[in-house]
Amino acid sequence: MSASQVQALDDRLPPAVTGQRRAAAGGPTGVWLAWWRRLSLSSFAVAGVTAAVLWVAVTDLLRQGRLETVLSAGRAELAAPLLVALVVVTGICERIWPAERRAVLARGHVQDACFVALHAIVVIPLMTLLSVGAAALISGHAAWIEMRWTQHWPGWLLVPVTVVAMDGANWLAHYADHRFGLLWRFHALHHSQEELSVLTSFRAHPLMHTTGFLLAAVPVVALMPDRPIAPVVITIYVCLGTLQHANLRWTFGPAGRVLVSPAYHRLHHAPDTQRVNLGVVLTIWDVLAGRARFPSRGDGVGPTGLDGRPVPVEQDASAAPALLLMAGQLIEPFRAQG
Ligand SMILES: [Zn+2]
Ligand SMILES: [Zn+2]
Repeated sequence: MSASQVQALDDRLPPAVTGQRRAAAGGPTGVWLAWWRRLSLSSFAVAGVTAAVLWVAVTDLLRQGRLETVLSAGRAELAAPLLVALVVVTGICERIWPAERRAVLARGHVQDACFVALHAIVVIPLMTLLSVGAAALISGHAAWIEMRWTQHWPGWLLVPVTVVAMDGANWLAHYADHRFGLLWRFHALHHSQEELSVLTSFRAHPLMHTTGFLLAAVPVVALMPDRPIAPVVITIYVCLGTLQHANLRWTFGPAGRVLVSPAYHRLHHAPDTQRVNLGVVLTIWDVLAGRARFPSRGDGVGPTGLDGRPVPVEQDASAAPALLLMAGQLIEPFRAQG
């Protein structure tokens, strides 16, 4: 067969088949190249940055002999009984006053429960180490940002100012998640949920947290370089950030102008209004950025999820069993698009 005949045949075949033919024709190198092209290198770069921050944290803590102590302190903050109680009570409220009525064992709930397990086993230690590593990197390379004069401020002023600044950094990280394609690949999993519930707070790719922890460490190192934030403050902050995914129509009334409510955050999860309501706990950053859209009590309950289902979801008729699907959802950002 001549070269022009091969080309004519290739033109009639689907791209995947011609790609395999070309890969096979190129021998082992061609196969390797074809496999390599199926990967998203920018996602591996995010994984590499995360690994570097973790490395800094682990080596630092091992040198100080504090690795286990810090990990258990992280568990106490991020899996506190207060948070567990909040999830249980919110779950009960969701049964009584649901925004969308659905079965307890709806596929979305079961899938998000798998992410709760992943959160407890993998994400909590990861978050703890990310915050330690980010703080160590910033203090080590940009000690000039430490504002020593704030150490004379009373705790009742310094802690709230730091938490508000931290929330601003989290808003910025969330904005970046939506603005930059390489970060969106990891954030999309969180937005893919079509059956929001309090458990959706834990439906996140572990590598989605890196930007947030790197940015949030900046105000903490700047304002409180020597004093740790009391664990209970972090736990309350996490509780407020968890409640927003509840399957409830709550707007928080007048407080909802300042605090992110379930109804407010639900608008961010709608397929067509993701550019609004990026706030994590406070709405002020959205107001300042002109991205706040406050819900009203009379609003209907709109759909959530992503148009075209770019991330495999459990609501799809052909979805794999929960754990297998979760593996696919975690791998998805590493596949090349297009
Ligand atoms: Zn988002
Ligand atoms: Zn969300």
